[in-house]
Amino acid sequence: MGERRREAEEKLEGGQVKGTMLLAHLRWFERQAGADAQARLAAAAPAVLAEALRQSVMPISWYPFRALIELDRTIASLLELPADRVARELGRFSAEQNLTLFYKAFQRGDPHAFFRQEALLHDRFLDFGQAVYAPHEGGAGTIRLFGYPCCSRLFCLSAEGYYQRAAEMMGGRSVVVHEVTCQCFGEAACEYSFRWK
Ligand SMILES: [Zn+2]
Repeated sequence: MGERRREAEEKLEGGQVKGTMLLAHLRWFERQAGADAQARLAAAAPAVLAEALRQSVMPISWYPFRALIELDRTIASLLELPADRVARELGRFSAEQNLTLFYKAFQRGDPHAFFRQEALLHDRFLDFGQAVYAPHEGGAGTIRLFGYPCCSRLFCLSAEGYYQRAAEMMGGRSVVVHEVTCQCFGEAACEYSFRWK
C-alpha cells in the first residue's frame, strides 16, 4: 500500500470467525513453541481469547473476531517477533491447512477457480461482510472484502499471506499479492490484487 495520511484503525467488535481459523493459528504456534505452547498461551491470553480457549476450540463453532486478533498478537509477543510478520506467516500456514483439508477437489494450475470459490465461501468462515473475486486476463485478479463491522491490520496481513500461499499451492509461480485499499484506513473495501505466472 502507498503512503497513508491517517493511522490504521482497529475495530474488534461486531463480528465472529469460524473456529477453523483459530485452530490453524493455534497449530502454527504449537509448531513454533513446542510442548508447553498451550500452557504459555493460556497464561498470556487476554480475557476474550482466554474464554475462547477455556474449552477445546471447535472448527465449526463461532468465536469473536477479537479472540482471533488477540490470539495473533499474543503469539507474536510470546515468540518475541513483530506482529505483522507473524500475521503473514499465520495466513500462509492457514492456506496450507485449508487447502489440504477443504480444497482437495481443486485442480492445481487454476488459481482463478480457487479464488472464485474462496469468495463464495466467505460466509462459511466469517459471519460478516462480503467478498467478490474478479479475474483479470492471464495470471491476475482482485478480491474485494467489504462491509466489515470490524477490522485489524493483522487480519489484513494474514489474508495477504493466505492468498499468496493459496495461489502458490494452486500452481502459481512468482505470486505477488498486494492490498491496494483497506477498510482499516477508512476505505470502502480491503482490495487485494494478485499476479502470478
Ligand atoms: Zn484491509
